[in-house]
Amino acid sequence: MSTKPDLLVISPWYDVAMEELDDHFTVHKLWEAKDKAAMLASLADSCVAIAGATACGADIMDALPRTKVIAHHGVGYDGVDVKAATERGIKVSNTPDVLSDEVADFALGLLLATCRKIPHADRYVRAGKWESEGNMAFTQRVHGRKVGILGLGRIGIEIARRCEGFKMDIAYHTRSQKDVPYTYYGDLPSMARDVDFLIAIVPGGASTRHMINREVLDALGPDGVLVNVARGSVVDEAALIEALRDGRLGAAGLDVFDQEPKVPQALKDMTETVVLQPHQASATHDTRLAMGRLVMENALAGLAGKPLITPVN
Ligand code: NDP
Repeated sequence: MSTKPDLLVISPWYDVAMEELDDHFTVHKLWEAKDKAAMLASLADSCVAIAGATACGADIMDALPRTKVIAHHGVGYDGVDVKAATERGIKVSNTPDVLSDEVADFALGLLLATCRKIPHADRYVRAGKWESEGNMAFTQRVHGRKVGILGLGRIGIEIARRCEGFKMDIAYHTRSQKDVPYTYYGDLPSMARDVDFLIAIVPGGASTRHMINREVLDALGPDGVLVNVARGSVVDEAALIEALRDGRLGAAGLDVFDQEPKVPQALKDMTETVVLQPHQASATHDTRLAMGRLVMENALAGLAGKPLITPVN
């Protein structure tokens, strides 16, 4: 019989990192179970740790009452019911910092791809249009423009540093002003009015839901570009589609959506003004390995009764 503690994994992450869990835990993969309720019932008396990359609600915590730690894979933990965990004395961790540079690189890549229409241009060449129709229409300059960053935390500051490299004029909106050499706006519509590009990198959840609404999109304007690498919930997707369709917003680069992995057909149909990505800002081998290892280290610390490395509650 195994002496390793039982760990339930709700949803998977990078398989190379997940395999390392086997060195320390008896791993139970909930997403592979034909009968999920039966798996939870079989673990009710033994499972002491939960990990996952998506959601973890009070129902799972109650099904596994011996749980000591929930090690979430990802820095954004809006899918985890942290209040319910805290009430049950369960420690929760996430995976901050190890992905900040990766997500910041990607945000700038998405901004460039959207402004310079790189995916559209690729399709233009492949379709033989360069030969048949000549040069493609001109695109938008990125360097030296005004950027507004919604959220200036671990990732937002890395985005700002990269924007400095592109000689941009940098503004940001957060609830509290930071000690940084960038222009602070206490009001999001005002910032949107003053910038060319708006990059969203705040956490998801109720406090940021639909922060980027019709008013903000209209303030950004017909030449404005939105990049969302935060959470789909931060943007009012219906308002975004209308603004793009009516030409009230110039373009959008989107890595995250309201109902992932479902993406509205209207956005898919806008091939020239919208760049779509499958929530992959942190998804490189190196960063996903680092995130997976941090999940494991947090779970081990929690079970050993030590302080978590990156605690949430
Ligand atoms: P941090 O907690 O370090 O930073 C969050 C920033 O958002 C802070 O500057 C905070 O400032 C600001 N903020 C929070 N709430 C509000 C609000 N209601 N209004 C205005 N500003 C707010 O987080 P990270 O930078 O590490 O990560 C940010 C988010 O990015 C994650 O929570 C996740 O959702 C998303 N993300 C997306 C990824 C992807 O794959 N696309 C990958 C990784 C992260 P203040 O408290 O002063 O308001």
